[in-house]
Amino acid sequence: MYSSSETSALEIICIGGGVSGLYFAIKAAEFATVTIYTKDELPKSNSYHAKGGIAAPFGDNDSTSYHIHDTLIAGAGLCNEKAVTYMIQNSLRCIEDLETLGTEFNKDENLQFDLSREGGHSHNRIVHIKDETGKEVINRLIHLARNHPNIKIKEHHFVLELITEDNSVIGASILNTQTLSIENHYAEIVVLATGGAGNLYTFNTNPPSATGDGYALANRAGATMMNMEFVQFHPTMLYLPNREDNILISEAVRGAGAQLKDSKVIQFMYKYHTMGSLAPRDIVARSMLKEMQHEGSDFLYLDATSLGEKKLQDDFPFIYNACKKYDIDSSKEMIRVVPAAHYICGGVATDIDAKTSVNRLYAIGEVACTGVHGANRLASNSLLEGIVFADAAADSIKNMKIPKLKKSVLNKYYHEEPQDIEQVISTVSQSDIQQLMWNNLGIVRNPTAMKSAENQLNIWRQTLVSEIKIQGRSYQLNELLNMVETAMLITSFALNRTENKGTHYAEEE
Ligand SMILES: Cc1cc2nc3c(=O)[nH]c(=O)nc-3n(C[C@H](O)[C@H](O)[C@H](O)COP(=O)(O)OP(=O)(O)OC[C@H]3O[C@@H](n4cnc5c(N)ncnc54)[C@H](O)[C@@H]3O)c2cc1C
Repeated sequence: MYSSSETSALEIICIGGGVSGLYFAIKAAEFATVTIYTKDELPKSNSYHAKGGIAAPFGDNDSTSYHIHDTLIAGAGLCNEKAVTYMIQNSLRCIEDLETLGTEFNKDENLQFDLSREGGHSHNRIVHIKDETGKEVINRLIHLARNHPNIKIKEHHFVLELITEDNSVIGASILNTQTLSIENHYAEIVVLATGGAGNLYTFNTNPPSATGDGYALANRAGATMMNMEFVQFHPTMLYLPNREDNILISEAVRGAGAQLKDSKVIQFMYKYHTMGSLAPRDIVARSMLKEMQHEGSDFLYLDATSLGEKKLQDDFPFIYNACKKYDIDSSKEMIRVVPAAHYICGGVATDIDAKTSVNRLYAIGEVACTGVHGANRLASNSLLEGIVFADAAADSIKNMKIPKLKKSVLNKYYHEEPQDIEQVISTVSQSDIQQLMWNNLGIVRNPTAMKSAENQLNIWRQTLVSEIKIQGRSYQLNELLNMVETAMLITSFALNRTENKGTHYAEEE
């Protein structure tokens, strides 16, 4: 399949333009040409919405071993300690590299990082840019990628399928969502950086594009998947009765002193954990669900009034203004909050170089399962994982002898003319999938509900496969299929887990 005689530059396809895809592309463009595909326009991604920041042990009293310890505790015994150690040992270097690339993190008067605190961390160690870290980092990386001669960015290109031969990936089949034409792009290396799948759930903090495409693509290509049952629910999304918006109230607000309270204004979290409102997320989300059931309410409260108007405006401008938009003055009144699906801890299994079980296929960022999160991610470790393993992937590819693709493979170049699909109609709806997952595979699960979800998802999958056969390759149908297939992965992993760990909690019947 491959010949080593070709001398032109190594070609890499990177699917995704969030923090991991962009950082990878910038690093790999030093020795290869990289094409980034994104299904929406940049900067739409989970990364852009990241609020709190990036965890790293920069503090005077902090150390690599404390950060490793906190990560392992949050992961409930299922972390890969080698991967955790690698990530944290490389955290300072990678964050300093982001600074060198022009990211301006908040600093104190001594020009040291202004470090905030989030749930599960024993020390202040969140490097941030006010409460809009993701936006600032992503804008900087996009600027660099757009101006790099070795990086091509193709927005509105939805990757339909990975092309494989003999357990090696050799390219991707891609739908241009504006012209509706399909083309195959062959390359020596494919990197999956497709982010998460929050939109599988009714209440979620993710932007609409997080539909789990990468998990489904990798699974169909035969890659080994891991830990898919571990879906992290963030305790504090702003509760809006009509779900007008997904506004996350960052844990840094609790780190700064805000407290979770019930309708009687009582801090209930100390009943459940000594760290109170800053206990690990799985414990907070489950405790909130119990309190909500006890109160018969759809929401609880976050009391940030003790922070005062100035601190809220200065340190949390996004949250302060987002609340204001919905007539909530967070300096004077409690904020209604609800736990919401936030992060997929599992994914495509990778080694420490971000290699998957399929040759030449790498996975980085949220779609990957490097093992650093175990059964529950420690807050602000995901942007860190994204950059550290993007860097590791670029390094590993740089140091590998990669034979070029044979001409015969390139001759299989395939281009399908635009299709004439006016309106795609499916009998499966996104909200049906979301409701099923929220009710049956949510914060608290049970075997009967999970089994029934499995049956329903199977039926929807068959329906979508038939609809795609009749209506052709469409963005909407393929996205729905990817959602259903990712939901099936979460369900089957959850059914196979026999003990409760971290974010997976099933009641006995
Ligand atoms: C509201 C919010 C706040 C958060 N706050 C923090 C925080 O403070 N700290 C922290 O560490 N983490 C935080 N997280 C989590 C973190 O932001 C994500 O885990 C991380 O940004 C994921 O980055 P990524 O590069 O893997 O994917 P993303 O940033 O989600 O990017 C995915 C990319 O893949 C593309 N894509 C997907 N499918 C396809 C397809 N089929 N074809 C083509 N392109 C495709 C998308 O277009 C997009 O460009 C937060 C998440 C959210 C939602």
